[in-house]
Amino acid sequence: MNETQLRELTREFLAKFDHTTMEPLEFLQARFDAGLAWVHFPTGLGGLDLPRAHQSIVDEELAGTPDNDPRRIGIGLGMAAPTILAFGTDEQKQRYLRPLWTGEEVWCQLFSEPGAGSDLAALGTRAVRENGDGDWLMTGQKVWTSSAHNARFAILVARHDPDLPKHAGLTYFILDMTDPGVDVRPLRQITGEAEFNEVFMTEARVPDANRLGAVGEGWKVAQTTLMNERVAIGSRPAPRDGGMSGVVAQTWRDHQENHTPDLHDRLLDLWTQSEALRLAGIRLRQQLAAGAPGPEGSAMKLAFARLAQELTGLEVEVLGDEGLRFDDWTLRRPEKVDFTGRDAGYRYLRAKGNSIEGGTSEVLRNIIAERVLGLPAEPRTDTKVAWKDLPR
Ligand SMILES: Cc1cc2nc3c(=O)[nH]c(=O)nc-3n(C[C@H](O)[C@H](O)[C@H](O)COP(=O)(O)OP(=O)(O)OC[C@H]3O[C@@H](n4cnc5c(N)ncnc54)[C@H](O)[C@@H]3O)c2cc1C
Repeated sequence: MNETQLRELTREFLAKFDHTTMEPLEFLQARFDAGLAWVHFPTGLGGLDLPRAHQSIVDEELAGTPDNDPRRIGIGLGMAAPTILAFGTDEQKQRYLRPLWTGEEVWCQLFSEPGAGSDLAALGTRAVRENGDGDWLMTGQKVWTSSAHNARFAILVARHDPDLPKHAGLTYFILDMTDPGVDVRPLRQITGEAEFNEVFMTEARVPDANRLGAVGEGWKVAQTTLMNERVAIGSRPAPRDGGMSGVVAQTWRDHQENHTPDLHDRLLDLWTQSEALRLAGIRLRQQLAAGAPGPEGSAMKLAFARLAQELTGLEVEVLGDEGLRFDDWTLRRPEKVDFTGRDAGYRYLRAKGNSIEGGTSEVLRNIIAERVLGLPAEPRTDTKVAWKDLPR
């Protein structure tokens, strides 16, 4: 199918399904079934086996139709879905992708633990097979789990064999968050609210049919998730003068009483850098059209986090005394992170997490140094030792 035919198909779909009279969910389900969800996915799984770049045609034609259900979050769409597509069985793809895309089922990511964040391969949650070949039983603690309180399913990395070196002893699973062995507790953040949680698992049950990839392949599967996560966080499409730079530029226009030459210079500098990053994001998405994301996504995410923090800091300064206001310190449980609909104080505080979530800026610099620039790797002494013998 060429670009003109795809545009035609999308228009035919729109003529047949009237989004102004249908329930938003029904419209999304029909869109998935027509292959117009993510066109680079296979036919029958929300796509049409087309190049990823063709998605922009569909998005253009369907602009203004329902797609902003807060349950349609990046963890499902940007991280779980590409991992299920790459490693899932046919049954798993059929079962999970449609309700994930429509937002009927929310997903969360059970990776980080109190003793394993940047060094994810050190994680200790145990996956033990009942009677040697039955269901898997998960026991351990995860932390910083965004949206766990809304999630129906989780992508989970656990240790099936502590006698193997840390990377080799990991396996990747899909966990049903409604299992009685799963306990989700809120964690208050610097913003006062609780987007994320700690999650305790006590023999939470996972059938072997919910294993994603082979036993022992967990590290490889997790890499697919993490590469997609960095791209999902770092290269969200925002129009020119949109996103954070647009918000701060508007604050500047609205507060002429606080203008100084220094603030003006800094705003122009950050606006220019944001524009360069936006264009680099377009280039990255075009590269992605050709295959899976590589370590280049780490550079986007690194630059995005730095700019988000500098821009939100500048906005607080531009606002003067008013910038010290804060709208809400209750332990809110937001369905979605909303940078633009809140006040400057919230943006300033929430942006602090941008250089931690999805890989810290220090760790991303290591990845860029080693895998993009080809610099010598950090010395590692723990990769050939059994995980159980590593100091913790
Ligand atoms: C808003 C937010 C949402 C999150 N959501 C999720 C989620 O949904 N699911 C999930 O699993 N996790 C989530 N996380 C957790 C996040 O992935 C971890 O916080 C992150 O990977 C860092 O791990 P850590 O907190 O254990 O810090 P540590 O790994 O202990 O790092 C501490 C400090 O040491 C530095 N450091 C560590 N190793 C190196 C190194 N080799 N070289 C140089 N410096 C190093 C780090 O940069 C950091 O400054 C979230 C975090 C935030 C802030």
